[in-house]
This record gives sequence, structure tokens and C-alpha cells, in this order.
Amino acid sequence: MIKITLPDGSVREFEKGATSLDVAKSISEGLARNVLAAKVNGEVVDAFRAIQTDSDLQLLTWNDDEGKETMWHSSAHILAEALEVLYPGIKLGIGPPIENGFYYDVDAGDTVITEGDLVTIEKKMTELARQKNAFSRKEISKSEAVAHYQQKGDEYKLDLLDGLEDGSITFYSQGNFTDLCRGPHIPNTSFIKAIKLLSVAGAYWRGNEKNKQLTRIYGITFPKAKELTEHLELLEEAKKRDHRKLGKEMELFTFSQKVGQGLPLWLPKGAQLRERLENFMKKAQLEAGYLPVITPHIGSKELYVTSGHYEKYGADSFQPIKTPNENEEFLLKPMNCPHHCEIYKSKPRSYKDLPVRYAEFGTVYRYEQSGELHGLTRVRGFTQDDAHLFCRPEQVEEEFKKVIDLVLYVFKALKFEEFTAQISLRDKEDKTKYIGSDENWEKAESAIINAVKGKGLKTVIEYGEAAFYGPKLDFMVKDALGRKWQLGTIQVDYNLPERFELEYIGSDDQRHRPVMIHRAPFGSLERFVAVLIEHCGGNFPLWLTPDQVAILPLSEKYNENCKEVLNLLNKYDIRGFVDDRNEKVGKKIRDAEVSKVPYMLIIGEKEIENGTLSVRKHGEGDIGVMNIEEFSTLVGKEIDELV
Ligand SMILES: [Zn+2]
Ligand SMILES: [Zn+2]
Repeated sequence: MIKITLPDGSVREFEKGATSLDVAKSISEGLARNVLAAKVNGEVVDAFRAIQTDSDLQLLTWNDDEGKETMWHSSAHILAEALEVLYPGIKLGIGPPIENGFYYDVDAGDTVITEGDLVTIEKKMTELARQKNAFSRKEISKSEAVAHYQQKGDEYKLDLLDGLEDGSITFYSQGNFTDLCRGPHIPNTSFIKAIKLLSVAGAYWRGNEKNKQLTRIYGITFPKAKELTEHLELLEEAKKRDHRKLGKEMELFTFSQKVGQGLPLWLPKGAQLRERLENFMKKAQLEAGYLPVITPHIGSKELYVTSGHYEKYGADSFQPIKTPNENEEFLLKPMNCPHHCEIYKSKPRSYKDLPVRYAEFGTVYRYEQSGELHGLTRVRGFTQDDAHLFCRPEQVEEEFKKVIDLVLYVFKALKFEEFTAQISLRDKEDKTKYIGSDENWEKAESAIINAVKGKGLKTVIEYGEAAFYGPKLDFMVKDALGRKWQLGTIQVDYNLPERFELEYIGSDDQRHRPVMIHRAPFGSLERFVAVLIEHCGGNFPLWLTPDQVAILPLSEKYNENCKEVLNLLNKYDIRGFVDDRNEKVGKKIRDAEVSKVPYMLIIGEKEIENGTLSVRKHGEGDIGVMNIEEFSTLVGKEIDELV
């Protein structure tokens, strides 16, 4: 018999070789019908895998991320099965789950698969899913697996097998389909009740543009038809909020092929919005004891050889810029940290000087393949609200707390209400792959945990997710459409202080290495603005929005009066414009609504006589008549609630 410990701490006994499904059935049949996979001693496995030893067990359903992943990954197999039926001889690349659904990369030879074919493929998938085919797992030797794919003539799977070690290879089958796969998978195909194939795109094999371009088919599945309907509604809403669409309509930014792909051009309204974000952060940072620094957009290649970035990313980055003197090479700055290390080194430091916090809105350049570029979220040049904190090991906790406060302030001011703190720590088993002393790591890890605990945040701890150079804290933010974004990274670094030989003189008169903390609450301003646009659907918080008011004269006669009102409002720090076009006021209201201007002030004979404004609020309509002072109080109140 083996002992199975459930998450609530209860222990049940089973025959050796029992499966997670058996455990589920022993609790209730209803539960068993919903179990997609299981976490056995921390590892996600098939719910139909036999358990051989005493184990901790967590049953995974659609409510767990890993449950969804398992379902979507299994759906990718069904997609491949359908494609093999419809396109005999098709070659298969990879088919992983993604954040929302799954894809499969395929090589259909001379056949072109287009969006028009998706309905047919979907139908075939539905037919296959209904067959209630069980997924099965088989361990297979490398030579057998190679023979299988040689016979099938699938060079992509052979390429994948090349990188796998004998003894670690498994095949999964369902129906008449077999795939090279690590698993896990759902018990059988009937768990998948609703299927939607979403789009077709090109994707280079292994993401390398030197390789052949395959066809990538995206899809998503659900255990209930209702959930698919809801998801499609969300997708519609997301389309409406696409930052590329709204950015254009609101005249915030643009791109020019002539300037270059992935290099955003900020238009006046966007630049002003960005400036407001920068000023907001600069003010908060100044209050939190940061010191501004400014560094150039390029740095000598040597700088990045020292930092290690050149060795790690050099080949996949923009190549060095050469000066007329051939011996000089410079790199476009891919990150600001090395420059800031040199600033730290510009004078001797004592323990009394620490922490030192250098902040810079630093623009960096990173090469992204053209196929990876996407609006403002994936670009080749972007500005970080970067800062580097140099402190003593015992100061890490205090510094973390302060950075968390800053991040929370940003979230509040921009109405991000749902988020989780994700702490990435070392692998529990293998501590050899990390640099820095064990003692410092333990100090930093517990400092981060304590700092987060102290703030009472919703937290997840991920073991083994730390970088080799230090633990970190990320904020996973849920936007208004329920999509998750990683924002506000805080990262401890033992590597760069070592490489740049940073020092301070301790109270013991000895030389010590400071700990470095990288942090950027916005991350990239470009990406942040994109996320913000989609989160608020272009309805920015009042303090940030390009135009706070649109002043709409009832007829041309009142244009001058309206300009006077605007001047008065400017004195109250309220910004906006007069819509003096020769249009009906109804049309002006509609246009102001489309441009997402928060307040509209309508002015005609009556308003001028009484010295009042007729106020409309975006999305709400008429909110009454008031004088300028009352209106400015209203605006001030709304802003004060956030910043
Ligand atoms: Zn698989
Ligand atoms: Zn950094």
C-alpha cells in the first residue's frame, strides 16, 4: 500500500500503482470527471499515470493553470491528428500550449493552409474529440523513435529527437495518432467540448529566420461551450482595445518603414502622455531617495564584455558600431546597468553612503526578429524607467519594501487592481548553478519573502525560476480583460558587482561587495503604455489623459468665449481644446466621445449669461450645470483619488 497526502493534509491509502484518477474517484465521481492532470510530488503528470510510492498529490482541474495547460496541449495533439487525416503526409513541428490556447507548427508541403480551411479542420477535431479516445503514454528508446520518424519522413521530429537523450523519450497516442511528447495529457479526448481555431501565421522552425517557415495554426478549447462563447466575446473586446488601433485613432504614436521596423515614433499627444508618466515617476522616485543620472545611448564593446552581456547576447544583437579608427567598437546600449556600475565606481564608497539609488529613463536597443515585432509591446528601441540600487546585504529587505511601495503606488494611480507577487527563488535541489555565496542568497531570498509578506500581497513562490545571478520579484497584473502581464520586476544581482569589482569599505574597515538591485516599475515605457491603453480601453485616468476637456461652442458665435473658458481652465491646471469646427454640436459630442475625452463642456447663450458650463462626462452623458470653480474642484477630486 502507498500513502497519498492531499493538499488539505488528509492521508489516504491505496494499492501501489493506483492512479490520480483512482484517488479522485475515491473522493467523488463528479471530481473524477473534471480531473485533467495531477501534481505528484510537485511534478505535473498524467492523471492516468501509476503512482508507485508515498506521494503528495494535488488533482488539477480547469480551475488550475496547469490543468488548462494540459487540456490545451492535448488539444494541440488533436489538431495534429485532424491535420494528418485532412492533409496526408503533412509534417509536424511542435505543438505547445500557450497563455490562451495552443498552436501547432506544420509543414504542409505545397499545400497552403489558410484561415478559410479552419472551419473544416475544426469540424474534424470535434469529430475526433467526441470519439472519447484515451491518451496513452509509452517510453521508447531513441533508436526506435528515430526509426519511427525516418519511416514517416518527418525531419522536424528527427531534429527534435537529436537534442533528446535516450531514456527520456516518450510517445503519446490517442486514436490513430502518435506524437513525440513529454506529456502530460488529459485522460481522454471527450473532456474537450468546445473548439475554436483562431488564426494561421508563419513561423520559422525553431524561431530561426534561417530555417524554413512553417504554418502555425492557433486554437483554443474549453470544457464547456458557454466558456468558449465568453472567450470569443472577450477577444472581440480585445480587438476594440488593441493599442495599435487606439494608438492610431488617438494620435499617440506611429511607425514608419523608412525609420525602421520596431522603432516607435511618438506623436505630440503620445509624447505628452509619456512625459506625464515620466514626471509622475520622477517625483515619486525623488521622494523615495533616488538620484537621477544620465548615460549615453552607446557604450564600448569592452563594457559589455565585462558585464557578460556580449558573450551571452552579442551574436543575436545589433552588431557593434565601428568608428573610423578600426580598433574602436561600440554597442547600442541593450541595458543601462553596466553604465550605472561605472557611475558607482566613480568614487570610493563607505558603508555609510549606502544605499545609493541611481535612476534613469534610459533608452535601450535590442534586436528582435521582424516576425516577433508587435506594436509597442515588442519593439527594437524602448525606454526603461530603470534604476539600480547598490546596498549592503542587510539592507536588501528594506530596499525591497520601498520598491514594492513604489510599484503599488503606480498600480493604484493607473487603476491596476488585480495582481499577484511572484517570487522566483533558487532550485531547492541544485544550488550549484547560481553565483554568489549561499549566505547572501539565503539572506536575499528571505528578505524578499519578508518584504512581500509584510505588505500582505497575494503571493506565489516559484522555486528554480531565479536567474543565475539572483532571486527576483515580479508582479503579474491582470488587466480589465483578465489577461496577465508581467510588470514591475525587482531583481537582486550578485553578478555585476563581482564583474565590475564594485566595493565599499565596511565598518570593519574591510572591502566588501555591495548587492545590486535592478528595478523598473513600468519596465519599458512603450510596453507599459500599450498595456495601459488596452487595460483602460483608451480611457486613461484623468491625470494622464491627453485632453481632459473638450469645449464645445453651440455655434460659431461663441468660439471666442470658449477660448476664454479654456484659458481660465488652464489656470486651474486643466488641459483641453476648443472644438471650433463648423459642425453641429451633436457631431462634436460624438467625436469627443470617440476620442475618449473625459469631459465635454457645452457653451451657448445661456451659459455665457449665467457664467456656467453644461458638463457632459464621457460614457455617462449630461451631469449638470456648474461654474468653472465647481468644475475644477470636481476634476481635482477625481485626480486626487489616484495620485
Ligand atoms: Zn503532447
Ligand atoms: Zn539593470
